[in-house]
Amino acid sequence: MPFHRRAGKIPSLLAFRFTPSVPGCQVSPDGAVIEVRNVFKVFVARGDRGGRRAFLALHDVNLLIEPGRFVSFVGPSGCGKSTLLNMVAGLVRPTEGVLRYKGAPIRGVNTDVGYITQDDNLLPWRTLRENVEVALEFRGLPANRRREQAAKYIAMVGLSGFEHHYPHELSGGMRKRTALVRTLIYEPDVILMDEPFGPLDAQTRVILQDELLKLWYGTGKTILFVTHDLVEAIALSDQVVLFSRAPGTIKHIYQVPLPRPRDVFHIHAHPSFAEFYDRLWRDLKEEIIEADLEAT
Ligand code: ADP
Ligand code: MG
Repeated sequence: MPFHRRAGKIPSLLAFRFTPSVPGCQVSPDGAVIEVRNVFKVFVARGDRGGRRAFLALHDVNLLIEPGRFVSFVGPSGCGKSTLLNMVAGLVRPTEGVLRYKGAPIRGVNTDVGYITQDDNLLPWRTLRENVEVALEFRGLPANRRREQAAKYIAMVGLSGFEHHYPHELSGGMRKRTALVRTLIYEPDVILMDEPFGPLDAQTRVILQDELLKLWYGTGKTILFVTHDLVEAIALSDQVVLFSRAPGTIKHIYQVPLPRPRDVFHIHAHPSFAEFYDRLWRDLKEEIIEADLEAT
């Protein structure tokens, strides 16, 4: 396979003194809830004239994620961000290397994590409340407990009164809130979000960013969040992981220099914002330009 293997250094999110913030959350000896070590991913696609073509999507990715952190992934399109989330969810296996969740290698689907993608995947034949209750049904919770829990979570995102609406009767923002609480209700310690607010208009996006931060802050949940929007990454995250152009590897991990709780509506006004944004954009732009040059 045409890739060069080199010993991977773990870019350390753990350089900072750390106390597990999820009570009882198991971690690896490094104190990580998610460990990615020397991960390579080769996809084999159908090439010209029926042949097969190997494509290196991820190249020696190393990452440790501490529990309770909000971590964003940014990088040029096609650099393997979604592939890495899929690996954490156990939907895709690495070609080489290992991923561990709470210290144990990920084998098969990782049902312990919640996953929210760009599409909300609501079941169209179910009402909002029935969609929110799905995971609790799988857990075998009795109907009255399900109803009680669903009502609590629906109220958290301001959707009380819409319980009996079907997805097609809801706005984009309401559908996204429903998808969010449908995942939060089963209380996963780790939530994967792949460009979740991508399809929304700019104003709804910021409102949902604010709601997400309020729902998350203080819970100790770990969030891995993929976005193309650097302002969104800065506003939400503790750390931003910058991927190189394909084949993707981690170019840099930044600590976001903004205190919490954050005001996403006025994030630009923070004195550290402009300098941090410029640095992030400069480093990302370099990768995008190189990727474009390589494609031409
Ligand atoms: P990103 O989310 O950063 O845009 P992806 O992880 O979706 O990137 O994809 C990384 C690369 O791997 C892309 O070139 C994509 O076309 C390729 N890829 C992803 N999934 C598959 C697959 N199942 N089969 C073949 N190639 C794939
Ligand atoms: Mg993607």
